[in-house]
Amino acid sequence: MSPLLITDIGSLVGTHPKNISVLKGREMNTLPAINNAWILCEGGLITGFGSMDNLPADLPTSFTSVCANGGYVFPSWCDSHTHIVFAASREEEFVMKIQGKSYEEIAVAGGGILNSANKLQSESEDHLFESASIRLSDMIKLGTGAVEIKSGYGLTLDSELKMLRVIRSLKEAFKIPVKASFLAAHTFPEDYKNDHKGYIKLIIDQMLPKVADEGLADYMDVFCEKGFFSVEETDKLLEAGAKYGLPPKIHANQLSVSGGVQVGVKHNAISVDHLEATDEDVVSCLSKSNTIATLLPSCSLYLGIPFANARSLINADIPVALASDFNPGSTPSGNMNLVVSLGCIKLKLLPEEAINAATLNGAAAMQLSDITGSIAIGKKANLFITRPMSSLAYLPYSFGQSQIEKVVLNGELY
Ligand SMILES: [Zn+2]
Repeated sequence: MSPLLITDIGSLVGTHPKNISVLKGREMNTLPAINNAWILCEGGLITGFGSMDNLPADLPTSFTSVCANGGYVFPSWCDSHTHIVFAASREEEFVMKIQGKSYEEIAVAGGGILNSANKLQSESEDHLFESASIRLSDMIKLGTGAVEIKSGYGLTLDSELKMLRVIRSLKEAFKIPVKASFLAAHTFPEDYKNDHKGYIKLIIDQMLPKVADEGLADYMDVFCEKGFFSVEETDKLLEAGAKYGLPPKIHANQLSVSGGVQVGVKHNAISVDHLEATDEDVVSCLSKSNTIATLLPSCSLYLGIPFANARSLINADIPVALASDFNPGSTPSGNMNLVVSLGCIKLKLLPEEAINAATLNGAAAMQLSDITGSIAIGKKANLFITRPMSSLAYLPYSFGQSQIEKVVLNGELY
């Protein structure tokens, strides 16, 4: 692989000191950048950068040169919450919602998570891999350079393992860091609708040992919500996950103040995700922890549910990350450019805050900030080059569009 030199960069964004692994609350409005810059990538890593006034004389003897023509360079988006392994899209539910059908009517017609689970159970591992690969390739073209992917449409031992093996295959096939979360506790399958204890026992006694044995997951996830998994059930599941060395990244407070944040923090969750519903106790609990609040504004947009109160989290110096929540039911999009725009438009994040939330803090929410999420010497050369832009704010301002012209992964043009 030949070294890559990018010159004439309008602004090289996200040059945080390498020792900064996460930005808490008010620190998020600092986004260091170098105007009129160059960057050098060698052996897949960032090995140098600076101002065009100081382009080094001792460049490698042969290298690929790219002129950015005033375009900006950003570290790749780090999408820390997705469900991109699924068997089928659910646009029939989309139309039913437009027609005003209720959640119950959609469920009766075979909608919801159980719909995805039924379809996934009969789908082959190869087909799941193929369809997820197309989604992941699309996301990479839109600037994503690290991703977390969840199971949770299996809901049986075999199907959960099948999903996690597909995620492992994606890890092997793609050049970007991929983390896997075990989310058998996404909902109760039909057979266990009236036997919650039985399903939790199945997860703890049969699924978890297998998942750990094959090293298929990095994190333990639970949908802690009214009508799904209670705080007590979540507590038990997170405790069981910890025994196998799986720290929590959990779904909390999507539909109500469920106690999910508190139980996540109790188990030192890497992140608690959603938080469309919060109160003072939630903010106070998070502010005393190292847990990251991961917000998913495109899910709020798509479902028409409230947006998270990002400002109260930031004012309490809580680290906030942004992620796509790409899934077939509530967020059929993995476009992080749109997520960053919605972070500004709907969560009232400043462009600097939204970009930090989708890069360095997203990396931290996958425990990857030592290798990606900012422009620093020795970090992975995963970045993207935009068209020439008049200012940083132009990126989120031009919502629904991508300004990305070139994607670089491991120091090579993608
Ligand atoms: Zn989710």
